[in-house]
Amino acid sequence: VDPASEQRRRVLRAIGERLLQARRVVLVTHVNADGDGIGSQAAVAAWLEGRGIETNVVNPTRVPDSLRFLLHRPDLVFDGSPEDAAALIRSADLVLVLDTSEPKRVGALATALDAGRTLVIDHHPPGPEVVGDLALQDTSAAAAGELVYDLIALFEDEIPSPSALGIYVALVSDTGSFRFSNTTPRVHQIAAELLAGGIDPELVFQRLFAILPRRRLELLREALSALDHDPDHGITWIVVPREVVSRLELTSEDFEGLVDHARSLEGTRVAILFRETADGGTKVSLRSSGEADVNRVARRFGGGGHPRAAGADLPAAAGVAVEQVVAGVRAELARGR
Ligand code: 5GP
Ligand code: MN
Repeated sequence: VDPASEQRRRVLRAIGERLLQARRVVLVTHVNADGDGIGSQAAVAAWLEGRGIETNVVNPTRVPDSLRFLLHRPDLVFDGSPEDAAALIRSADLVLVLDTSEPKRVGALATALDAGRTLVIDHHPPGPEVVGDLALQDTSAAAAGELVYDLIALFEDEIPSPSALGIYVALVSDTGSFRFSNTTPRVHQIAAELLAGGIDPELVFQRLFAILPRRRLELLREALSALDHDPDHGITWIVVPREVVSRLELTSEDFEGLVDHARSLEGTRVAILFRETADGGTKVSLRSSGEADVNRVARRFGGGGHPRAAGADLPAAAGVAVEQVVAGVRAELARGR
């Protein structure tokens, strides 16, 4: 595998040395964790536990059942109350935050993190505030999992096999199965090494994409029947109202990948998913074909992400959210020409 940049290795060496001196480490990722967040946590957990360091996974929202197979020991996941989660964080020697660096993205856990004991490994463009005082924020990485690969490779001749699975899933998840523009030659080199070490790509495909609960197909039916399109600007969107979320008993992991159906409509430059949440607000997911910077749009609504994939939580019902966000996207598209 091509070496990582000197800057990346320097920060990762400092982070790794601190981790290896700890006795108890807590790993945190962002709300509604995806395959990159959980895969990165699983990979670091297996590595540290192999080195005799007690490790726990403590997240602001529940670890999706569909991703628990990544953990080499399922009991590493803390599933208790937010108060107990904060206590666990406060009693750890160190906390490593993965796949985000923003206090807003770690929800209720943010107040329990003190910067001096908090390290960050992230690949998002930096937001207004960083949760730790030793942070790698490297937007040239395809996934946080790529940075975790580099971290472990600095200290081990071979990536331990439960870590390899987490890293592979992180790469698959954030590159859209090696299709998006972040799929660099280096991503393929890392994937090749992981496959040579025994990762079964078809098994990962089965677990992540091939077998879905019935409610997800019913959600897809609802979503496609609600598809909306602005042909003049190339904006396509889907609205999923509260009524559908509660009737189908949907959780946030059920929405993974749904916005890509909107993106696939011919002529789409920006695709948006609006999903109403229990608190009366609307969760928005934005995807860009590359012309528009949707991170800029999301930031205007208090969210963020990457230039081509971003999100925000709006404190408004879907009707209002659609009006505001579609207008924001039109303005961003106009800016780009
Ligand atoms: P998704 O639309 O799949 O939830 O997220 C796409 C990207 O945007 C991910 O990189 C995710 O971390 C980021 N993102 C999604 N929602 C938010 C949000 O509310 N705030 C911020 N800062 N980033 C978000
Ligand atoms: Mn990521």
